[in-house]
Amino acid sequence: MTQVQELLNFVNGQWQSSGAGEALDVLNPATGGAIATVGLSPAAEVDAAVQAGLGAYADWRETPVVDRVQPLFNLKMLLEEHLDDIGQTLTNECGKTFVESVGELRRGIENVEVACGTPSLMQGWNNEDIARGIDEHMIRQPLGVVAAITPFNFPGMIPLWFLPYAVATGNCFILKPSEKVPMTTQKLFSLIEEAGFPPGVVQLVNGGADTVNAILDHPDIRAISFVGSTAVAKYVYSRATANGKRAQCQGGAKNPVVIMPDANIDSTTQMMGDSAFGCAGQRCLAVSVAVTVGEAKDPFTEGIADLAASRKVGYGMDEATEMGPVITSESKARIEGLIEDGAREGARVLVDGRQKSVSGYDDGYWVFPTVLDAVDPSSQIARTEIFGPVLSLMHADTIDDAIALINDRSVSAYGNMACLFTSSGATARQFRHEADAGNIGINIGVAAPMAFFPFSGWNESFFGDLHAQSRHGIEFYTQTKVVVERWPQEWSRKF
Ligand code: NAD
Repeated sequence: MTQVQELLNFVNGQWQSSGAGEALDVLNPATGGAIATVGLSPAAEVDAAVQAGLGAYADWRETPVVDRVQPLFNLKMLLEEHLDDIGQTLTNECGKTFVESVGELRRGIENVEVACGTPSLMQGWNNEDIARGIDEHMIRQPLGVVAAITPFNFPGMIPLWFLPYAVATGNCFILKPSEKVPMTTQKLFSLIEEAGFPPGVVQLVNGGADTVNAILDHPDIRAISFVGSTAVAKYVYSRATANGKRAQCQGGAKNPVVIMPDANIDSTTQMMGDSAFGCAGQRCLAVSVAVTVGEAKDPFTEGIADLAASRKVGYGMDEATEMGPVITSESKARIEGLIEDGAREGARVLVDGRQKSVSGYDDGYWVFPTVLDAVDPSSQIARTEIFGPVLSLMHADTIDDAIALINDRSVSAYGNMACLFTSSGATARQFRHEADAGNIGINIGVAAPMAFFPFSGWNESFFGDLHAQSRHGIEFYTQTKVVVERWPQEWSRKF
């Protein structure tokens, strides 16, 4: 029997076994084989991390911000150096292709780079003589110990939407990664250990739902950042805020694209293939509904069906692979069940990705690209986040009809992203103005905001007000203090 790696918590600068005794296997979704085990930390282990964080906080918040960002510069260099190694781990536990894994890590590194600018980003405001002889300043101060809870689909990027901003602003940070993909995080933390943060400033606590509850109920954790499905995002937001914490909770998605007859159909089809089937459709910014307008219908339908049928599916480390497996056998069964439901509700299965296999990987969780045509907007499949490589096609006669369709909250309650393909500036402007989503792509298939901008999901895709990344991250992790001061000359000794 091959021994698999036991993953550890990183608490107070030390690697520690989880004392819970309860552990899960981490599986390679391309083979179905166990590659590690991860402990499920109980409340006592969460508390140990919080106590270490509180212990480190007093000194960390007094450390000048220019010094606090130095370990982030180190972390950036270490991440660059270990990119391929972490990318390979990411592919093996998450399933995506190696190119996608490295691409994801690059977007994570971008956040480390942006947070290195915290000395500027954290500056306050002031007015001299806001009243005669009175000056007023707003300064930003950290909160204390904060925590993030992250999903399975971007283990190399999403922790970095939060961690760099939290610590650069002077907080101590605890990460609870997805129990499905904890290996990438373990590698990330081995670099964090090297980067030079004092013990207790950045900590890793593995676990599942009970660990999350312990975090949400801990009185000394001041803020919660969450990314995951809408049901859990809503739950985490409610419980965290009921416990008096700040919370920013990003949820699921069902992202539409509108394709106009004046779009370049070949490029649009290519970009839609990458958006719908990239990362096996397990991206919160994957397009999952394509609405063609007028004459765009036939050429796009034909093009996307050909592309879906020819996409090379396999193990993510094989160079020829264009799409990997989905994350678990449960996920595969759920996606295949939803395709079946869609067909039962009247959709035409143009390309069917069910019951497929990959030679040499018989136990992998394979769902091939699937295209459902003539999906009824009122059907369940039109509303449900599938989170797999399935694209639904709908049709509208005009741009107004298409916008009305994608904005109809009874069709989709989400608002993570909406995209448009066109060569008309006027249509683009109308779409940008009217589409009811927080991230908009114009002739872009995955409108993922760069780290300099907030990741702006709306509606059921986000609960809170300040989003991840950029200045929003800085604001989320700091509290403002306003100082009003008067220094009358006559009260001071003159020298
Ligand atoms: P998930 O909601 O199942 O899990 C996310 C995190 O919550 C994990 O750390 C998990 O341990 C924890 N969790 C799960 N169930 C819980 C429960 N009942 N109580 C407390 N904690 C619980 O999500 P997932 O399957 O890991 O990730 C996929 C989902 O994340 C999709 O819906 C996707 O759209 C969404 N997502 C959203 C964004 C975004 O930016 N909006 C980004 C990535 C992923």
